[in-house]
Amino acid sequence: MTPMLPLNDGRQMPQLGFGLWQVPAAITAETTATALRLGYRLVDGAAIYGNEEGQGEGIRRSGLPRDEVFVTTKVWNSEQGFDKAIRAAEASLKRLGLTHVDLLLIHWPCPAQDLYLDTWRALIRLRDEGKALSIGVSNFQEPHLERIIGETGVTPVLNQVEINPRLQQPALRAFHAAHRIVTQSWTPLGQGRSFDAAPVQAVARRTGKSPAQVILRWHLQIGASVIPRSTREAGLRENLDLFDFALTDAEMAAMASLDEGARCGPDPARFEMM
Ligand code: NAD
Repeated sequence: MTPMLPLNDGRQMPQLGFGLWQVPAAITAETTATALRLGYRLVDGAAIYGNEEGQGEGIRRSGLPRDEVFVTTKVWNSEQGFDKAIRAAEASLKRLGLTHVDLLLIHWPCPAQDLYLDTWRALIRLRDEGKALSIGVSNFQEPHLERIIGETGVTPVLNQVEINPRLQQPALRAFHAAHRIVTQSWTPLGQGRSFDAAPVQAVARRTGKSPAQVILRWHLQIGASVIPRSTREAGLRENLDLFDFALTDAEMAAMASLDEGARCGPDPARFEMM
């Protein structure tokens, strides 16, 4: 149902998915199963979200064949380093109840800790062992990407970073395009900061879509993968209903003017939280 994006390792992934950050563990299985029933095929999780058991349970409850669901998890900052990252990924698989994930990411570079290169080597090993079909990173900036690519010759398939209308990251996205790295947008709705912005409202009025749908459609049209979060069935449904309208070139240009370089989340150059 949702378009597929080609990955630089020959695989492919759904462009649209849903995220599980801050989804309470007690309702994660139900939320995941509901989303899969509605048509989502990409589930973005992480060890630090504390709900991998529910993520795995929801996938089983959906009854879908394993290879129809694209499952992501991430290695947390305190688990960086070669041996620790291997153990952390294996612990995630155990909690998920899966033999492999489709995509394993390093959650943050944590440059002061300076272990992301060893961690990347662990992800390469896990991929070679079939425990992660594809490997990538999250919150990496150009110097971090250049270093892991230069040292290992393995380019991440994807970089999951904060992108929303007020933080469009054009230089990083151009770097991704040049290296065939998929950009995946986290906090895509930007905490509602742009819901009232004139370019968003204009498209909403013209199409009858909600501001959230206009912004999610903008993510798809800049070529990004996008993983909005909602625990409400109506919200999940709304965020999937993006394929019967499009922003025009002029509307895309107006959206570009909203970029202020203003983050909702932490600066990856300085974020070292364990
Ligand atoms: P989001 O942009 O998806 O926004 C979620 C908020 O918007 C919730 O409060 C939700 O109730 C509300 N919302 C959802 N749909 C709506 C709609 N149609 N209309 C109005 N409000 C709506 O933010 P997020 O959860 O921060 O990010 C999405 C996912 O990205 C996360 O769940 C997680 O999987 C991932 N993420 C990753 C990182 C990272 O460091 N890699 C950081 C943050 C989030």
